[in-house]
This record gives sequence, C-alpha cells and structure tokens, in this order.
Amino acid sequence: MLLTDGELRTILKNHRALVEDSHVVFPSHNGHGDHGSDFIDVSRLVPHPQVLERLCHDLAARFAHDRIDSVVSAQGSAIPIIQWMATHLAGWNGHPVHAITPDLYVNGWSFRRHQLPMITGRRVLIVDDVVHNGCTATHLINLVTETGGTIVGVGAFCNRERVNAQGLKVPKLIALWNLNTPTWKYDGCPSCRLWIPLSTDGGATNEFISFMRGEGRWFRCRECDRFGPVFGGDRNCGHCHSTNIVAT
Ligand SMILES: [Zn+2]
Ligand SMILES: [Zn+2]
Repeated sequence: MLLTDGELRTILKNHRALVEDSHVVFPSHNGHGDHGSDFIDVSRLVPHPQVLERLCHDLAARFAHDRIDSVVSAQGSAIPIIQWMATHLAGWNGHPVHAITPDLYVNGWSFRRHQLPMITGRRVLIVDDVVHNGCTATHLINLVTETGGTIVGVGAFCNRERVNAQGLKVPKLIALWNLNTPTWKYDGCPSCRLWIPLSTDGGATNEFISFMRGEGRWFRCRECDRFGPVFGGDRNCGHCHSTNIVAT
C-alpha cells in the first residue's frame, strides 16, 4: 500500500519537512533563488532513515516496472534517497540496482571511471529531492545521455511544477508531492516588499541575506526594528514606511 496524500502530508509536517504559509528562499547556487510561501526541506528527513525509507519505497514503486539498472542523483539530500530507492528496486527487479552520484567540478558534473559501466548501455532513473526549475535534473540527464545511458524518467520527492516530463524531454516525471503555489524572483517578491520576515525554519535565508548585504541592499529600520531589502530608488521600511533606515 502506498501512502495517501494525507498520510504523506502528516509525515512531512511532523518532521518539519513541509513549511507552509511562510516566506522562504529556495536554495540556489547564487544566494538569490526564487521566493515563495511553501517549501519542502528533505534534509529534515535524512536523520530519520526509517521515515525516509518509507517515502523512498513509495517513490521507487512508481518505477517498479521500468527495469531500472541505475539510479542517479546529485550530491546532497538525494544521496540517501537513491540508496533506499535502489535497494527497493533491486528487490523487485531481482537483480542489483546501482546508486550513483557524479562528482561536481567547476566545469560541471562528471562520472568517475568505475561508475561508467553502470551507466553506459543501462536503464537509468534520475532522482532529485526537489525539482524547482529542472536545472539539476537537466544536467544529470545530459550527463547520463552523453555517457550512453537510457533515461527512463525523473523521480522527485517534490515537484514545484515549473517543468514537466515534456520540458525535460524524458518519458516521465513523477513526484510524491506537488507544490504549485506561486514563486517569485527575489526582486519581485511581494513579501520582501513588505519586509515580512524570512523563514528561520528551512530554505536559504542566510545565503540570501549575505547576498543582499553584498549588494548593499539589506537594511534595518530604526523605527520598527525590522530588517528587509531595498530595491531600486526607494529607501524606506517596507513595514512602517519610515525613511529612517540603515544598511547592515
Ligand atoms: Zn521574498
Ligand atoms: Zn519600519
């Protein structure tokens, strides 16, 4: 039996892996990923392998009939996910399934030599913890294809529904959880305009504040003591509209 949406939601909420009605910055390589109100933080599940295993079972089950040889992810929270998924798939397939993570160099991802026979000529499933805009998945898809592997599909714990299988040019994209709430570029975020505090419970808040400080755009209001960003020519507090603000 697979978990229902309600059961999955309860598990995510109980482990604070699902943050809702908040003001969050999505992780990115540049410190200023998109902003939104909802966020899935899979790293919250990693210290709970029994929970992670259950969710990996359910995601792997969606690909049980695809005769997968290898599961490939990027570094990070997806590594324990592909270990569990490969274990379940191997049990159903009746043959070993590999879990492979390429190394990330300045010029992109690359497989190690010993990993190549587990990709070339193999049926490969790409896995990401959260698919935001498909950037990570696209890099992995290209790497596997160039290495001579056949992409069976992309699996994710969460899909923000900015991309679909067609956009990724893969046979299928399946997520345990779909989050289709709006997101904004950081300089168009309505919560930022109002200086609504950023989430302290997940997301890339600290990276974003560092980035904004570096740009000289992170201020403190001397009237209401809030912190927030300033864009363009306006120099006032987004909360109380005071102009008595200082860069921090
Ligand atoms: Zn924002
Ligand atoms: Zn203020």
